[in-house]
Amino acid sequence: MQDAKLTAKAHDAHNTVIHLTESVTVGGNDLLIIGGPCSVESLEQMETIAARLGQSTLQALRGGVYKPRTSPYAFQGLGEAGLAILDRVRRCYGLPVITEVMAIHQIEAIAAQADVLQVGSRNMQNFDLLKALGEIDKPVMLKRGLAATVQEFVMAAEYIAAHGNPNIILCERGIRSFDNYTRNVLDLGAVVALKQITHLPVIVDPSHAAGKRELVPSLARAAIAAGADGLIIECHPVPEASISDARQALSLEDMTALVDSLRPIAAAVDRVIPTASGDRQPVLV
Ligand code: PEP
Ligand code: MN
Repeated sequence: MQDAKLTAKAHDAHNTVIHLTESVTVGGNDLLIIGGPCSVESLEQMETIAARLGQSTLQALRGGVYKPRTSPYAFQGLGEAGLAILDRVRRCYGLPVITEVMAIHQIEAIAAQADVLQVGSRNMQNFDLLKALGEIDKPVMLKRGLAATVQEFVMAAEYIAAHGNPNIILCERGIRSFDNYTRNVLDLGAVVALKQITHLPVIVDPSHAAGKRELVPSLARAAIAAGADGLIIECHPVPEASISDARQALSLEDMTALVDSLRPIAAAVDRVIPTASGDRQPVLV
């Protein structure tokens, strides 16, 4: 395999800082905490999360509207109606939103209504999708494939960069192994390695790694201690009622407690979890 060129780290201090909005960044001193449901279910659901967590707990909201489900009979996401919900919430609350793109034909609409486009694990090596995402200028969050090596992960990011988009966030979300007690195995060694071999921001998704809500806070703390640039965590106003991934969703109270518990760990590794700035006041539209 050829080596990475554009995503490779040239020297220790070489770190890319990506702007989600003017004030929300990842890869610099500020940690990026993204939270929200697995799937966007309603405007009320997303507004509740934004209103309760948007000021001091989260810097960005997540929510899938195109869902890669194992079963074709499972909920597939709200699609365009879900995108409209995300767009409304980001405008009303001044919070950037991130959502998954599954196909090339979805890119234009998602890029118009979201701040970050997520490539899910199942699409990490969908090379045509990666090439097409290289042609936009919005940040792309690339999740590690279910059984992808670190090298394959970096080369997938290299596709996006080689096609013109340098705004790539890597996301470690656990890899498959023999034990299904945890849904996946969170590979913190890969986080450390990725920070050493690439200059891209690396965030961790402890929710899909753990698959069980009671494991999420400790894994999140370990990720920050290991040098991750941020976290993406599933939470829901009524976790047990989540349409997808209910077992791993945190309540909004638990999400706030978790982020508060991260602050001293962030300080110990010379990072900060920012609280809301002026542009994140709720506005009526
Ligand atoms: C998700 O983030 O909701 C998701 C489907 O994640 P992954 O692609 O990591 O399974
Ligand atoms: Mn999920």
